[in-house]
Amino acid sequence: MTETFDAIVVGAGSVGVPSAYYLASRGLKVLVIDRRTAVGQGENKAAIGGVRATHSDPAKILLCTRTLQAVSTWKQDHGDDIGWKPGGYCFPAYSEAVESTLKGLLPKQRAYGLVNDWVDADAIDELVPGIEHENLRGGTYSPGDGQVSPLLLPVVLIRHALRMGAELHVKERVVEYLIEGGAIRGVKTDQGTYWAPRVIVATGSDASRDGELLGIPIPVQPDSHEAGITAPVEHFIKPLVVDLRPGADGKTANFYFGQNHEGQIIFCYTPKELFVGTDHTSQSEFLPILAARMIGLVPRLRHLLVRRVWRGCYPMTPDGVPIVGNVESIQGLTLAVGMCGQGFMLGLGVGQEVASLAVDGRYELPPEAWNALKYERDFYAAKKEALK
Ligand SMILES: Cc1cc2nc3c(=O)[nH]c(=O)nc-3n(C[C@H](O)[C@H](O)[C@H](O)COP(=O)(O)OP(=O)(O)OC[C@H]3O[C@@H](n4cnc5c(N)ncnc54)[C@H](O)[C@@H]3O)c2cc1C
Repeated sequence: MTETFDAIVVGAGSVGVPSAYYLASRGLKVLVIDRRTAVGQGENKAAIGGVRATHSDPAKILLCTRTLQAVSTWKQDHGDDIGWKPGGYCFPAYSEAVESTLKGLLPKQRAYGLVNDWVDADAIDELVPGIEHENLRGGTYSPGDGQVSPLLLPVVLIRHALRMGAELHVKERVVEYLIEGGAIRGVKTDQGTYWAPRVIVATGSDASRDGELLGIPIPVQPDSHEAGITAPVEHFIKPLVVDLRPGADGKTANFYFGQNHEGQIIFCYTPKELFVGTDHTSQSEFLPILAARMIGLVPRLRHLLVRRVWRGCYPMTPDGVPIVGNVESIQGLTLAVGMCGQGFMLGLGVGQEVASLAVDGRYELPPEAWNALKYERDFYAAKKEALK
């Protein structure tokens, strides 16, 4: 099979699907290809659906602000249910150190117009009824953040993209990038060859392999994280809750959970020691450790029935910042990879940027943001600075 398109998106995940959607909405004839059986079946479906703009990095703030604008109005603008649940993010503080870290982020976030306030312990208890009060100093609460269903969003977006003329090929793997005279010409898959002057690589945890195919190193190394979900209960927790304390179990760094639009409690933790690699096998220690942490923080959660657990990956870059931009050495090639633990919330914002790079030939973001995202950066600059 040989066909010609305006743009080809490799990977139909958290980033590839919104990229296809925005490219198609700008009038391009788009092909999106995924090696799995349907859209959103890679790391996308491992996400618990948290969407917040309240980061410390300007690029992430700006990209996630765009995502929030799109998801919070999606139902009224387009009529589809994407599982949007407003309710914000809450970071409770149980120590002076965490309080000062959280308060230190507020001025930067406010400079970008974000609402994130320090609230007292009683306000935290209203947001998360039954939260442990001993040593609770208060916490931050950002009401504009929220949650979206990672199972619904890609399905809704691809339906719109297809209606706008995009084409989706699943169960098809890109095995070669076609480059001639320093410019991308298309891709070869295990089933055919497709031509386009613009190719967007959005392959998540597999991105370093695409780097090998392209002859440019793409420093994305996945590490794995586990999550789980309970049966639904009556809505009682508004925000997504992030407990930044390391666990007394010695195995966990922070942990976070929330109640989704269907009333299910969805949860995960960050392991203290990283599990590098793409092994998606759930570990038997995850649930006992997580349950002890969650019940320790909110004892009334002990009555919940856990439905399932799973394991997925964060596609990490060395500096923890995604790679979004055109590659200078290969004309027509855009990278949208290395989304770390925030690819779901970055997806729509990154998709808009990908469309702008393809159609307008420039970033929409201001320089302080795109400089941090571009492929041609020193991925180890922050680490070198810290060693000085
Ligand atoms: C437990 C857990 C909880 C998380 N919670 C959140 C959260 O609350 N909020 C948040 O924002 N993020 C969260 N994340 C992170 C988020 O899931 C990822 O950052 C995001 O899904 C990465 O998106 P992506 O599009 O880069 O990759 P993916 O969604 O994995 O998409 C990449 C796609 O490329 C395809 N592909 C790869 N190679 C090829 C090829 N050669 N040919 C064809 N197709 C190819 C794959 O099949 C895949 O579908 C969480 C992750 C985990 C593990």
